[in-house]
Amino acid sequence: MIYLDNAATTKTLPEVVEAMLPFFMENYGNPSALYASGIAGKKAVNQARRDVAEVIGAKPEEIYFTSGGTEADNWALTGVVESYRQKGRHIITTKIEHAAILRTCEALERKGVEVTYLDVDEEGVIDLGQLEAAIRPDTILISIMFANNEIGTLEPVAKIGRLARKRGVLFHTDAVQAFGQIPICAEELGVDLLSASAHKLNGPKGVGILYIRTGIKLGASFHGGGQERNRRAGTENVPGIVGFGRAALWALHTMEQRAAAEKRLREYLIERIEAEIPCCRLNGHREKRLPNNVNFSFMQVEGEALLVMLDMKGICASGGSACTSGTANASHVLRAIGLKEDEARGSLRLTPSWENTKEEMDVVVDHLKQIVAKLRRLTSALPSTE
Ligand SMILES: *Cc1c(COP(=O)(O)O)cnc(C)c1O
Repeated sequence: MIYLDNAATTKTLPEVVEAMLPFFMENYGNPSALYASGIAGKKAVNQARRDVAEVIGAKPEEIYFTSGGTEADNWALTGVVESYRQKGRHIITTKIEHAAILRTCEALERKGVEVTYLDVDEEGVIDLGQLEAAIRPDTILISIMFANNEIGTLEPVAKIGRLARKRGVLFHTDAVQAFGQIPICAEELGVDLLSASAHKLNGPKGVGILYIRTGIKLGASFHGGGQERNRRAGTENVPGIVGFGRAALWALHTMEQRAAAEKRLREYLIERIEAEIPCCRLNGHREKRLPNNVNFSFMQVEGEALLVMLDMKGICASGGSACTSGTANASHVLRAIGLKEDEARGSLRLTPSWENTKEEMDVVVDHLKQIVAKLRRLTSALPSTE
């Protein structure tokens, strides 16, 4: 198997699993308890909080553990709407956010919140002028992702942060794809709220964080037993949190080498695909993109057929986001960067990890060439449907 879907999820590192195990088997006491086994859990959670905080240059007390990126995104948006009611009910976001943001915005709209969805250019970057023009006296939040999960484009987060500060508007960023992959300093970037998720950086599934900058008013996510300083009740997922902490430390210390290795694979894939497969288009920004993201559209190719045929060769890839595959709709991200319906449907996302090799990329491109040619022969042999 050649796994090239690391933007959807990653392998849990053996050392991460090992760090988690004692908190299932021995130190399984409730971290709120006063006996040794509970105290060990509490200590481990607080160590993990320090380790996760370090990745974004935050203070440990600004880190709140959640059940993942989706919960963190939901909490950031609904929490601001609740806590800043007196100021207004207007949110600014983009057309290319993850479903965790877009579906939450839609739910808030049904409750009377107004949402502006910013356009992006053909490379997936927002326009700062358009953002500034969209800010109103009743704007309570700007929520713009750090890096797009489908096309890998990096948004101008530092500039957005500066603008948000200048205009007195809170700034949330969904950094699930960027956290632990590229350097982030929340304070320097002017970020007030930030979401991340462990399973995108070789940690376990079902655990994430919302970073809440000191001084930001934000209502509780869950009400209950007072965990996470009264902001997110529920007995802590101690093994998951410990795994996140270990994965975060590891990600921080290996970031440079991993990014360099992934960039080499990315550039090699892009170079070979562009040179050897006709009628294709690279989606996303050529330089301002995640180190491991490759996204192509192939004209006259049905993306789902492509994925099934790659799978038959043992290659795991994706058509866009995992959340949109399985449905016939073209990706909202690819539509937002100007692709036509059929171009958007013929797209392929390859997200290798540092562990993949150049030889594997050769195998992938060789198969891809043949599959694309075969699918195009089939398409042209079909009678026209018009
Ligand atoms: C994966 C992902 C999420 C969702 O995170 P989960 O932990 O799977 O809930 C949110 N936003 C982005 C950009 C993602 O890539």
